[in-house]
Amino acid sequence: MRIDLHIHSTASDGTLSPSEILTLAQQLDIAAISITDHDTLKGSEDALSCGIPPSVKFLPGVEISADPPPAFDCSGSFHILGYAVDIHNSELNHTLSMLRDSRENRNPCILKLLSDMGIEIALEEVLNLTGGSQIGRPHIAQLMVKKGYARSIDAAFDEYLGNGRPAYVNRFRFECEQTITAVLNAGGIPVLAHPFLLNIKENDVLENLIAVLAEMGLRGIEVYYPEHTKDLMAYYTQLARRHDLLITGGTDFHGDIKPEIKMGSGKGDLFIPFALYEKLISSL
Ligand code: AMP
Ligand code: ZN
Ligand code: FE
Ligand code: FE
Repeated sequence: MRIDLHIHSTASDGTLSPSEILTLAQQLDIAAISITDHDTLKGSEDALSCGIPPSVKFLPGVEISADPPPAFDCSGSFHILGYAVDIHNSELNHTLSMLRDSRENRNPCILKLLSDMGIEIALEEVLNLTGGSQIGRPHIAQLMVKKGYARSIDAAFDEYLGNGRPAYVNRFRFECEQTITAVLNAGGIPVLAHPFLLNIKENDVLENLIAVLAEMGLRGIEVYYPEHTKDLMAYYTQLARRHDLLITGGTDFHGDIKPEIKMGSGKGDLFIPFALYEKLISSL
């Protein structure tokens, strides 16, 4: 039995609704899933309210963008997954609403930088695309492709939207300790998402970071991930064991916005065992 604990819905930058995700999980025989939208619990909330099919175990989740500890200057994506959180917890919801505000403030700035380079995308077009859901850079990238400004979503990131590129706009995030604490206080399990995407090249730096995060209350590492090679997964597994952390995994499924990633199997060869889900919930 396989699981997938990292899935995005239309509540953030995925293209399937929570109810479509549940249906697909059922069709693909995925035994347990979590919907982990960026900085919002709306995807999990909607999934719970539309009813979870009996064959699928469901963990409410969220993927929170955070700042790394000051001593670790990593250029990649520093994301904390929060599993099994109380979706009504007010501290966590307040934290997430501030992050959503920081996204909203960023969008016009990104569009202005693009416009200065001759790429004309109106905020209204992005809002029409998302139907009022939270806007992420992939939505802007999608419009850039549609309007002929970029060959692909990846190219839009590589040339314009990615960190360090000309239309990149930084935004406010909480420090990781506060983020980890907010997940813990909401009764959840904080897990470091996709360590490979942190872009930390030296193993000793990553090991130090994991030690610091564990001290702050981190409970797990996302070891299984489509972009992690077999060797990396073995290494991250050792790291998790050394620091007494849980092991989780997910595909980061986004539907058509990342068409090469399939729910439950990533690029086709990822198998995330059900036992990891059992360990996770037994540690609650
Ligand atoms: P945002 O929430 O606006 O910061 O955008 C984050 C999303 O952009 C994540 O879901 C990533 O999948 C996607 N993303 C980040 N960097 C890249 C990249 N270099 N190429 C393609 N997608 C990316
Ligand atoms: Zn995303
Ligand atoms: Fe992420
Ligand atoms: Fe993600």
